[in-house]
Amino acid sequence: MIDVRPLVVKLGGSVITDKRRPFVVRRAILRRLAHELAAAKEPLILIHGGGSFGHPVASKYRIAGGYKNKNQLMGMSLTHRAMERLNANVIEALQKAGLPAIAVQPSACTVVSGGQIQSMELAPIKKLLELGIVPVLYGDAVPDLSKGMSILSGDQIVAYLALKLEASRVILGVDVDGVCTANPKKAKRVEIVRRITPADEKLIASLGAAEGKDVTGGMGNKVRELLALAERGVEAEIVNATKPGILKRAVQGERGLGTVVGR
Ligand code: ADP
Repeated sequence: MIDVRPLVVKLGGSVITDKRRPFVVRRAILRRLAHELAAAKEPLILIHGGGSFGHPVASKYRIAGGYKNKNQLMGMSLTHRAMERLNANVIEALQKAGLPAIAVQPSACTVVSGGQIQSMELAPIKKLLELGIVPVLYGDAVPDLSKGMSILSGDQIVAYLALKLEASRVILGVDVDGVCTANPKKAKRVEIVRRITPADEKLIASLGAAEGKDVTGGMGNKVRELLALAERGVEAEIVNATKPGILKRAVQGERGLGTVVGR
């Protein structure tokens, strides 16, 4: 086990891409967030979502449903490539902010079956962290031992790595102020839920799906992944990364900026 307990941060696809326009990076936001991340004092591991890069392609070829026809082979290749393109933008933004970042390809180091992570090769990731390099992973189209192929979401990677690397804390950057009593993009009057624990069953069951062509997302899935972590002692917080300064304060250790998911 590494002696460093990393901070696991995820940038949502809806934060770093324009979800309504295919293959559009929100460059100014990405640039700002890279600088905010550079304020972290702990070893950092970054995961990002697919937004308008991965999701439309994955959805067109129905990758998440498993392998059914030959067209999906090109679909899987295209989905992965779309994510690599987004990832290259993220890595370059981090480098410009002074963070030595290296991409770690999830489809090459993760064993997935039935859409669930069975194992991941962690030794290189741990070594990168020890060296002081920021490993960057992303939602990806992956080979699936039982379904042929599936989509591994950034949120699943976050939950797995946070547990296995004994994360000090998990921060999910999204495009809303936190988990709300209803989807803030649809309902008029919503309240932010400041803390969620496994006991909040009613609220958890009511959480909705994602906007646009999202094949993995939605607040419900995020919260469920984070609750599994909370039950094993890793605290997480969902914050609004589109608002300047919030992610920076969160990575510097401030709590209560969004929704804490804990025990
Ligand atoms: P990301 O792409 O950042 O991983 P998603 O788009 O998958 O995030 O999920 C975040 C979205 O979930 C928000 O933009 C919001 O529209 C939606 N959402 C649905 N229900 C809720 C809720 N109860 N509280 C907050 N957001 C919600």
